[in-house]
Formats: sequence, C-alpha cells, structure tokens
Amino acid sequence: MIERKPSAVIAVDVQNDFCPGGKLPVKEGNLVADPINQLFKAADLTGVLKVATRDWHPIQAVHFAGFGGVWPEHCIMESEGAKFHPDLKIDPATFIVSKGVDGKDAYSGFDGSITSSPDKADLGTPLNDVFLARGIQRLFVGGLATDYCVKQTAMDGVKLGYQVFLIEEAVRAVDINPGDGNRALEEMKDSGVKVISLERALELMAQS
Ligand SMILES: [Zn+2]
Repeated sequence: MIERKPSAVIAVDVQNDFCPGGKLPVKEGNLVADPINQLFKAADLTGVLKVATRDWHPIQAVHFAGFGGVWPEHCIMESEGAKFHPDLKIDPATFIVSKGVDGKDAYSGFDGSITSSPDKADLGTPLNDVFLARGIQRLFVGGLATDYCVKQTAMDGVKLGYQVFLIEEAVRAVDINPGDGNRALEEMKDSGVKVISLERALELMAQS
C-alpha cells in the first residue's frame, strides 16, 4: 500500500538578481529553473502545493551594506531584478511568498507571508499557516542559494516538523568562501534534511 502524504514544492528565490546578469548572481543560478519546473509539473498532476518564495526588499533595507547589513542591494520590490527568472514557470495556482519586505534579513521562506495565492483568503498569511491549514507533511525544496535561503528554509522546515527533501539538481550555492555550498549540504543533512535526486523526488511525488 502506498502511503500518501500531502506535500508542497518550494522554489526558493529563483529571481533575476540571483541569476547570472543579476545584482547578486549565483553561478548557474538560472539552471535550477528546469528541475523546479519538472517538480511543479508533477505537482500539478498530483495535487501537490506549489510555492515560490522571493526576496522583496525596500530600497532602504538594513539587510543592505549601505544601511548596516552585509549584502549589496538586490531584489528591490517591483524591480526587474526582483522578478522571478523568466525560465521559472509560475502560474496563478502558485503561492507566492514575499520576504524581507520590512528591510530586515529574511533568509527562510518561513519568514515570509503569502502575497499571491489561488485563494485570496491566504493573502498576508505566514507560509507555515498555509501548510498547517492544508495538512502538509512533506516539503520538496530547491532554489537559490544552497548556502543561505535554501538552507534556512529547509532547516526551518525540519524544525517545524516537516519531512524535508532537498533536490540536489535544483539548487546552486553562492560559495562566497569555497566549499560553503557543500558545508551547507552537510549541515542540512545533519539537521534531518534528506538530500535526494530529482528522479527520486518525482517518484515520491507520484505517491502524494
Ligand atoms: Zn535579500
């Protein structure tokens, strides 16, 4: 007998500024779009929830180096750089989670709230509340970047009690210090995140 578990796919911050040509580019960042699109397509067939998070910062953000933070300016709300990468397939059924809206650091998708949703009742709701309301138990996570927002989202997911799968083909690292991405993967594994292939993820989703 197949054990069915309500699931969600979370695409973390697949935005222009985090892709080649953007303000805070991740090498090959654009290449996460294709595996995530495959997860989204499988989600459509199996009723799995689709979520896309985005950094959505004001111009004067304490998150930025000019205002006391560490990062160069990126993902200014409504700017071209803050848009999802054009290769990522977002549709009206995708829950959009915006984070860092108040200018503060917000790495985890669980720090954000819903700003677009198939159901207007969800607008403004924290991501975890959306999952709780739908009995979600498993999360399939991909996106940018492995060593920051992906890591925080996946590890928060574990802390909140979800079974969390990280899809290895669907993530890329900033690697500010060489090896950061690999260290982040080890840290995630140690915290209980399961790192799996896209193929395995699609098999598991077929059982959702
Ligand atoms: Zn940011």
